[in-house]
Amino acid sequence: MEKRPEFQRILIKLSGEALMGDQGFGIKPEMINFVAGEVAKVHNLGVQVSMVVGGGNIFRGVAGSSAGMDRAAADNMGMLATVINSLALSDALEKKGVPTRVQSALSMDQVAEPFIRLKAVRHLEKGRAVIFAAGTGNPYFTTDTAAVLRAQEINAQILFKATKVDGVYDKDPVLHEDAAFIPEISYMHVLERQLHVMDMTAISLAMDNNLPLQVFDLHREDNILAAVCGQGVGTRIYS
Ligand code: UDP
Repeated sequence: MEKRPEFQRILIKLSGEALMGDQGFGIKPEMINFVAGEVAKVHNLGVQVSMVVGGGNIFRGVAGSSAGMDRAAADNMGMLATVINSLALSDALEKKGVPTRVQSALSMDQVAEPFIRLKAVRHLEKGRAVIFAAGTGNPYFTTDTAAVLRAQEINAQILFKATKVDGVYDKDPVLHEDAAFIPEISYMHVLERQLHVMDMTAISLAMDNNLPLQVFDLHREDNILAAVCGQGVGTRIYS
């Protein structure tokens, strides 16, 4: 069956953990190659793809501060971890034939372009996948919030959060056998019920600007493709 994309410009948020597979730390080559292959499928349909990747597989600011570090210093380390992941993802995508550019919110001109909104848009128009590294460039934020921010700045039609669960449940499905799957939910309900889909700052920013979000399982083959083709995978969050 011919695949028809429902969206022309998207942002995919991947957690850092998505790249580590079963290793518990770092980047697993098989995993990053799988992710790159899945992203390549939608890029090959002509969809303009941008991405934000987390850093939790390498370093998370909260973990550093709970171990006694200054929170801002720990967060700076977390942002640097996202740059490492972004460079790895870019390399894996290039190997699959997808031209990419990494734009960093922290200046490090030798390894990545600086984040320049209109330049990012131009890359997308030219068929390059753009990876936004270093989160928002500010401590006390997360890459979920960075993903919502960048998606809005580049006018992405939707933000896909490709993660380790298949969508939103009314309670944690790992802990509760009777957890019920929710196919659609409003931003307000996510906030009120404190469902841990994304952090609250990210959800509120998406709500303020009406950016649709879709959460689904990254690990299932063709899920990103199905989401791009509007085949209703996972949970859709909107007003
Ligand atoms: N971070 C930050 N500002 C940002 C984005 C990220 O300080 O705008 C830091 C923060 O310490 C965070 C870490 O980078 O814990 C890694 O990002 P995140 O925890 O969102 O990664 P994920 O859970 O998606 O792997």
